[in-house]
Amino acid sequence: MKTGITHLAIPGPTNVPEAVRQAMNVPMQDMRAPDFGDLTVGLFSDLRRVFKTTNGTIMIYPGSGTAAWEAAIMNTLNAGDRVLMSRQGQFSTLWARMAEQLGLDVELVDVPWGAGTPVSEFARRLGNDVEGKIKAVFVTHNETATGVTSDVGAVRAVMDDVYHEALLFVDGVSSVGSIDFRMDEWRVDLAVTGSQKGLMLPAGLGILAVSNRAMAASRHATLPRAYFRFEDMTSFNRDGYFPYTPPTQLFHGLRKALDRLFEEGLDNVFARHRRLAEGVRRATEAWGYDLVAEHCRIYSDTVTAIRVPPEVDARDVIRGAYVNYNTSLGSGLGPLAGKAFRIGHIGDLNEVMCLAAIASSEMALVDAGATIELGSGVAAAQAWYRDSRVRQPMAIAAE
Ligand SMILES: *Cc1c(COP(=O)(O)O)cnc(C)c1O
Repeated sequence: MKTGITHLAIPGPTNVPEAVRQAMNVPMQDMRAPDFGDLTVGLFSDLRRVFKTTNGTIMIYPGSGTAAWEAAIMNTLNAGDRVLMSRQGQFSTLWARMAEQLGLDVELVDVPWGAGTPVSEFARRLGNDVEGKIKAVFVTHNETATGVTSDVGAVRAVMDDVYHEALLFVDGVSSVGSIDFRMDEWRVDLAVTGSQKGLMLPAGLGILAVSNRAMAASRHATLPRAYFRFEDMTSFNRDGYFPYTPPTQLFHGLRKALDRLFEEGLDNVFARHRRLAEGVRRATEAWGYDLVAEHCRIYSDTVTAIRVPPEVDARDVIRGAYVNYNTSLGSGLGPLAGKAFRIGHIGDLNEVMCLAAIASSEMALVDAGATIELGSGVAAAQAWYRDSRVRQPMAIAAE
């Protein structure tokens, strides 16, 4: 029998705060009631704040992040349209595969897993595309498989340099709400997220922020769409209603989760993720292990992918952490299977939760044959968390 809690140290689904869970514990309600908009209208405007857009249109689909990927493509592009994408990990690979499956002509740039979006290669290809054949550029802001954050603003800048008019699609599933995302500043046309990562909810909402340019493109784009049709969504959403039955409990949870994000302050939320992530990185350094991410400038603040030495099978580490220490670690995906494991540090999280993940990782690593010293990573993270602490007045001592 298992006692205590199972620690969720994966980059999604993330921990749901108790207050958010409680907020969802409400009876079913009439989604056509005259006051239903009291709950939903504010969700649209507050999600705009999280994406940092004033004019973007928010779509909330019952579905996961993958649904929002598909909605973005089907509403704005035409069969055979050329799109520029890079593969740098499992999620960017899956999005490229989807684009091919949906009938796009995908111009692929493969980079090593651990690198970010290849901005200069994108610049070269966009510069050569004088006829404007490339209709969209896709960026995975935070590649969850490798723990790499790419520079969306830099991609926008190279598009501007050559006056390229392609739409800019960005996967922000593991960044929006945890790592700074600036839809308007970067002029992102289609920004995707899901409910179960930075928004600290169960899976079930695929969320999309759409620029005015992308809304205009959707009016004459010809890929077939039905469930995901923008016009159906926007015509109902105007008054807070939906074209089909929405998951109302999740909306109550979303209300509470957004309240919490704003109460903490988005900038503080980003800073907390950075600080917690740094503790995990210092632990990794103490073990003498490399990150999958190639350079400190692209380290992700929501997930760290850690390479294990050749004598250790990362699958044993993940299995052992779960079976023996009640901790779910993220697996090495695709070609990283067995070679890396991931510690997710996204969402509702604090220092001691990260320390628990590091401690379980150490025990599971040693069990799997690693020669690291128990406690070395924990100590490095503890030292960082103490040194970097935002000093709180100690109420008890002051009394
Ligand atoms: C989790 C994730 C997805 C997939 O989202 P689902 O909600 O599982 O469909 C896509 N992209 C990234 C970067 C992710 O982290």
